[in-house]
Amino acid sequence: MKPISDLYSLLHQPQKVVITTHQKPDADAMGSSLALGHYLRKKGHEVSVISPTNWAGFVDWMPGTALVINYDQHQQKSKQLLTQADLLFCLDFNIFHRTKSMTEVLYSLSCKKVLIDHHQEPDVASFTFGVSDTSKSSTCEMIYDFIVGANDADLIDQDIAECIYAGVVGDTGSFRFASAHAGVHAMVADLKRRGLDHGKIHEGLYDNFLENRLRFIGHVLLHRMEIFYEHNTALIAIPKSDLVKFNIRTGDTEGLVNYPQSIQGIRFAALVIDRDEERKWSFRSKGQFDCNTFARTYFEGGGHYNAAGGRSSQSLEETVATFKTVLAKQESLTK
Ligand code: 5GP
Ligand code: MN
Repeated sequence: MKPISDLYSLLHQPQKVVITTHQKPDADAMGSSLALGHYLRKKGHEVSVISPTNWAGFVDWMPGTALVINYDQHQQKSKQLLTQADLLFCLDFNIFHRTKSMTEVLYSLSCKKVLIDHHQEPDVASFTFGVSDTSKSSTCEMIYDFIVGANDADLIDQDIAECIYAGVVGDTGSFRFASAHAGVHAMVADLKRRGLDHGKIHEGLYDNFLENRLRFIGHVLLHRMEIFYEHNTALIAIPKSDLVKFNIRTGDTEGLVNYPQSIQGIRFAALVIDRDEERKWSFRSKGQFDCNTFARTYFEGGGHYNAAGGRSSQSLEETVATFKTVLAKQESLTK
């Protein structure tokens, strides 16, 4: 994988570009894809943004989502755009299988592939150019760096600023995680000077749900949460029947794993949801507990040190039992 700076000269000529990201894109995935898309269009390139799947309502307000193609729903059109592309940008994921049903197609493409991502252990062999930096708060921050690195900071307009800011807010837990380093705040200061209305973004992301979601959270915290004080850990396990009863949609469970972290002493929170195809895990820690290693070792997943995800083919009851067994081995959590 060559450095991303080697790409700038290629972008002097108009290119056919496809931008894609991980399945069920969150604010960072969608924000970075749209921000890069807006920027490259301004530079005269022909740009399509393809999401592997549908996305949550809380990213739907972002400028440009109306033009995003859902691969699951429009496979033929997506494949045509992908095979005709000169450049494929892969944002906010580290290996093709994070795009689920698009995986095979991405491997088969012969165009130049570009990675911009902040997850651990990227599959660098799959990319022609790229930057992978786990010290970055978000892929959105990396898109800002990419634009500034091309001496194009003055092309950052309201649409681009809103998309970038949304991803940074999403991935830093509204600036509370350690990843919100000084450079992030300096970037936000720059976006503010360019006219960003930050309050609008927080409302778009967090004040945009329906009543059923809040009642669902109340139900889950009351009936589905278990605390293991000896391991400073909380577990939330959600059966399919709850998702049906409360009419839960994509994105409605985002952020749920953070709630137990407000309990004094809790340093590790796990959430498992019984999805149709698999049991999907989310892990969050505070301080010295490596969620990435935990997810990789026991739940076929990965991510970052303090936030990771995984999956299981076991039933909900079985995977919860597995979790309890492996939790008992985590001596670093008992201190
Ligand atoms: P979340 O819990 O919000 O779904 O994911 C937390 C972090 O872990 C995100 O950075 C996400 O990209 C990553 N992640 C989630 N699930 C998986 C997975 O199954 N495999 C890998 N490698 N990373 C994941
Ligand atoms: Mn991200």
